Amino acid sequence: MPRSPRIDLHTHSTASDGTDSPAALVAAAAGAEVDVVAITDHDTTGGWDEAATALPAGMRLVRGAEFSCVSPSGRDGERDVSVHLLGYLFDPAHPAIEAEQARLREERHRRLVGMTERMAADGYPIDVEAVFAYLPAGASAGRPHLARALVAAGVVESVNAAFATLLYTGSPYYVPKADTPVRAAIEMVRAAGGVAVFAHPLARGRGRVVEPSVIADLTAAGLGGVEVEHPDHAEPDRALLRGLAAELGLVTTGSSDYHGTNKTTPIAAETTTGDALDELVARAAGGVGVLTGCPLPWFR
Ligand code: AMP
Ligand code: FE
Ligand code: FE
Ligand code: ZN
Repeated sequence: MPRSPRIDLHTHSTASDGTDSPAALVAAAAGAEVDVVAITDHDTTGGWDEAATALPAGMRLVRGAEFSCVSPSGRDGERDVSVHLLGYLFDPAHPAIEAEQARLREERHRRLVGMTERMAADGYPIDVEAVFAYLPAGASAGRPHLARALVAAGVVESVNAAFATLLYTGSPYYVPKADTPVRAAIEMVRAAGGVAVFAHPLARGRGRVVEPSVIADLTAAGLGGVEVEHPDHAEPDRALLRGLAAELGLVTTGSSDYHGTNKTTPIAAETTTGDALDELVARAAGGVGVLTGCPLPWFR
């Protein structure tokens, strides 16, 4: 019997805030005996082509992206919550997606400059040039780029420490960005032939999370799956999400959310089953054949 496939559906490259180039990301996946890897950079599809070109024989690439979104919390009178949506197998040239990703990358750029200037004004030995040394041309800017510059400047010991002490949401140096309403993002991904999966919905360490009722509402609005096995999910929350997914008919995924050396999680630390991936591919049907050779009998 063939071994079951090793599938990691959430990783980042230097096209956003990972530290591996798309080609190095694919090589890292190959080194970890991964059969299917998804590239899901924040608000960009800029890494897809390099990753596809670097694919070794027998490995498959799921093209995706992680969309920066806002969602109602599901609690009366509370302001919106920041959430992430994974879109897979969508047409990257769909006009709504192209426009919204371009807008978000502009927002990200503006806000990173804003955060850097606030820190500089407060006397930190940092400037925009130093931060942008960590940002390849065209990449989607994120707080980890600033974090790395702060490490290089000797302000903090690690990217993680930079977040804990200076860059956390709500810190005096934090500048918000205008994210996409999550329903609009789901609609966009679906209109472009893809499938939408709620990324790490109960990652409580990142801030407020949505109520289960919101996941139910989004399922009615076209959400196809939910990320259950994720490094930022506690076991009781994983169990809660498994139950909710079964009730709502959502596909469940597992992923590392690999960011190279910007985080400590190795690639494929958490994985998705072949059946779940097949179901995602089926739900994305009507797409543009972005995933060559799908459906994927090869997994069985
Ligand atoms: P941004 O997209 O600019 O809002 O920054 C958020 C990103 O920072 C997330 O996607 C994570 O990749 C990263 N991040 C958040 N917290 C940490 C942390 N404690 N250590 C390392 N990276 C983090
Ligand atoms: Fe990230
Ligand atoms: Fe995320
Ligand atoms: Zn991610």
